[in-house]
Amino acid sequence: MDGTQVIGVDVGGTKILAGIVGRDGQMARRRENSTPLGSQSELLAGIDNAVEEMLEDDVAALGFGLPSPIDQRTGRAMQAVNIPLDDSIDFRARMAERFGLPVGIDNDANAAAYAEFQFGAGRDVRTMVMLTLGSGCGGGVVIEGELYRGWAEFGHMVIEYDGLPCQGTCTGRGHLEPYVTGFAATKLAQAEFGPAVDSHRLVRLAREGEPRAIEILDGIGRRLGAGIGSLVNIFNPELVVIGGGFSAAGDFILDPAREIVAREGLAGAGKRVQIVRAELGTAAGLIGAGLVAFDALK
Ligand SMILES: [Zn+2]
Repeated sequence: MDGTQVIGVDVGGTKILAGIVGRDGQMARRRENSTPLGSQSELLAGIDNAVEEMLEDDVAALGFGLPSPIDQRTGRAMQAVNIPLDDSIDFRARMAERFGLPVGIDNDANAAAYAEFQFGAGRDVRTMVMLTLGSGCGGGVVIEGELYRGWAEFGHMVIEYDGLPCQGTCTGRGHLEPYVTGFAATKLAQAEFGPAVDSHRLVRLAREGEPRAIEILDGIGRRLGAGIGSLVNIFNPELVVIGGGFSAAGDFILDPAREIVAREGLAGAGKRVQIVRAELGTAAGLIGAGLVAFDALK
């Protein structure tokens, strides 16, 4: 441990989480503020504020996890869906100039995957895929120990030609996302059990043995398995980590996913790969943003 510290900032659609992160992934301090959504300038002011609250003399770099595909060549967020940030500004250069520190940026799900790889479920492997199931579906991949810094938008893989319309501003159809998120589960749950039942209640009903709830989660898990099966055939990972709030569905979705992955994977890869839940919970995005900051020091 060389004493170097950075500030990690995880910018979400409802909260901005900021913290001081060490090389060992430990957080010295952290704070949570609500995300200003009125305009891009209000959002940027909110993010500046979160950084200023953490600034200490020995902070060496800043790292940001953003809910958007990132263009690493230009430092821009390309199509943020739930925050008012667009590609009119070079976010990375703006922050570097404002704070006079090296700055790294990445997609929030990439950052979470990086944290799980270093300090969570993936700490003993070299190649790992992560899928984050929340209101949307994000992804990240670590290949031979290196975080892939490209898009890795695994939620937007086509799993069914001309299938369900995707969520948010995505114009695609049959993407993984509209089948496997907590949002998707809530829709299916409400169609079956009425408007008061959301994805959390659906999982509780399954735990209580309600057969139709178990069946709905089984259907979601099989579609998740189809997506993971394709990722196994592309990356041949040792481990697939499932994070995000809807990962609380656990083996109700992971067991059917494992069955489909075993079928889809080439050369036994679908049977070898481990599919597990993430370990770091909501801290993964913040710790990962810190790791992105350390990479900016290289
Ligand atoms: Zn999509």
